[in-house]
Amino acid sequence: EVERALHRHGCERIVVTEPGEWRVLEMMQEWAQRFDVPVEIRPDDRFLCSLSEFRKWADGRKSLRMEFFYREMRRKTGWLMEDGQPLGGQWNYDAENRKSLPREISLPSRDRFEPDKTTRDVMKMVERRFPDHFGELDAFGWAVTRDDALEALDHFITACLPGFGDYQDAMKSGEDFLFHSLISPYLNIGLLLPREVCEAALAALEREKAPLAAVEGFVRQVLGWREFVRGLYWLLMPDYADGNFLDAKRPLPDFYWTGETDMNCLREAIGNTRRNAYAHHIQRLMVTGNFALLAGIDPARVEVWYLLVYIDAFEWVELPNTHGMALFADGGVLASKPYAASGAYINRMSDHCRDCRFKPREKLGESACPFNYLYWNFLIENEDRLRSNPGMGLAYRNLDRMEAEHRNAVREQAAGFLAERLSE
Ligand code: FAD
Ligand code: SF4
Repeated sequence: EVERALHRHGCERIVVTEPGEWRVLEMMQEWAQRFDVPVEIRPDDRFLCSLSEFRKWADGRKSLRMEFFYREMRRKTGWLMEDGQPLGGQWNYDAENRKSLPREISLPSRDRFEPDKTTRDVMKMVERRFPDHFGELDAFGWAVTRDDALEALDHFITACLPGFGDYQDAMKSGEDFLFHSLISPYLNIGLLLPREVCEAALAALEREKAPLAAVEGFVRQVLGWREFVRGLYWLLMPDYADGNFLDAKRPLPDFYWTGETDMNCLREAIGNTRRNAYAHHIQRLMVTGNFALLAGIDPARVEVWYLLVYIDAFEWVELPNTHGMALFADGGVLASKPYAASGAYINRMSDHCRDCRFKPREKLGESACPFNYLYWNFLIENEDRLRSNPGMGLAYRNLDRMEAEHRNAVREQAAGFLAERLSE
């Protein structure tokens, strides 16, 4: 296409913005020679931290932790700062962002944008050319214009931001969005800018329309996590994608593609993904991601899935989140320890277990939640690599207290489950 465009317009040079994938950058770097024209690749200024700034911050540090990067960015922008100190006295209100959802709480309505003619034409083309596609088109209601994206942002700030902090980690059956912003696709394709979304949240705080913990929680995601994973991706690629610290090799189960599983939490998360090309962070990290981690699924196969199924997927953001945060395949570059959890976590943060054929409190046997025995099996399988991790001390002390007989039974049930569900 680039070659065709060069001829069509008689161009003498190419000026282009840096892309969102290493693979594409490599292609661009060949253009000068291939097309015999000068090529200028300009920085993408739709971010709050340039790649050279990130490199400078990372240089010489033993470990790269989001929290310290985030504090640096707070100082740089002056957001949520007062006399050089964090507003309210704390940098981070994460501990207040982990409430489970009260049963009676009313959830905000969500804007759905009626597909315009162009979108409808594309939907028809998708049906025609990709009849076996993973998703469902009927519910498509994403904004595709700047005006609609701004309206979506406005709706989030007014109706959802006040509840965003408290229930950031919550999950509820039949509720796909809760208080989340749903703005990642707009940010990632440039319909919204990170500066304006953070400033909109800060203005809500100023007007006392949203509490500090919610605004800080939101700003941390955009100014902290989003910028941090991008910096990390470009700092560590191309080798980053090749790591497989836990030597995970199992295939991705079919139910990731069909959503047909008797594990209710996975059915909910994958169902959301198929309906909306969306799942919120905790569904991605602690349900589909956690299962893939515990089951020892080959990171490359999991990464392909995440890259294909989400509307906001670009490799610069998908890869560090999947490879590093969810699967610990980078051995601790992004997260200090694996986000591994048993069914108790999902039970605490959701109502999914109530309608599940499995029981989150049962550890072994026909009705036991598979996350339970897979969790212990994960610790046993990866003992050589994880026991010395300081963050895993408590988990291994608990494992040490397990009777040998129980341990063997865990191994056996996990092996049976994995053999049955992960066959190729
Ligand atoms: P909210 O919960 O409302 O958060 C606000 C914004 O903060 C998001 O829109 C996003 O821009 C940013 N943000 C929050 N968490 C992260 C994070 N961990 N990394 C980067 N930005 C973040 N995000 C993508 O944009 N594209 C992806 O392909 C992607 N893949 C992921 C894969 C896995 C395994 C995991 C665990 C997370 C992934 N994320 C990805 C991060 C996060 O889950 C999504 O950004 C978020 O769920 C988008 O929904 P939202 O806009 O409602 O987010
Ligand atoms: Fe998921 Fe286990 Fe709860 Fe079922 S019981 S919803 S599998 S955590």
